[in-house]
Amino acid sequence: MPIYEYQCSACEKVSSFLLLKTSEEVEPYCKHCGSKCVTRILSRISVPKSDEKRIDRLLDPSIFSGLDEEDPASIEKTMKKLGKELGDEFGEGCGDYVKEESS
Ligand SMILES: [Zn+2]
Repeated sequence: MPIYEYQCSACEKVSSFLLLKTSEEVEPYCKHCGSKCVTRILSRISVPKSDEKRIDRLLDPSIFSGLDEEDPASIEKTMKKLGKELGDEFGEGCGDYVKEESS
């Protein structure tokens, strides 16, 4: 079942619409403020074309060399390396993830 996501241009929040049938038409609206001024956006889990090359680079095994999965400090070091590749936003997310997992 396809999930369509729309971003409200009034409050910038995202509303998701689950379609039961692919032929079904949706009349999108903002579920947060009721505005019909919404823009279809791509699902957040999809990878933008421009990021594919960066992801490829992340799959380079050399980045994970020296990673000890049993050692939280080693994981954090590798995550920081990954964060540098993907940008600060991603790096911070990973840092939080590692902290949660190790506590
Ligand atoms: Zn809204």
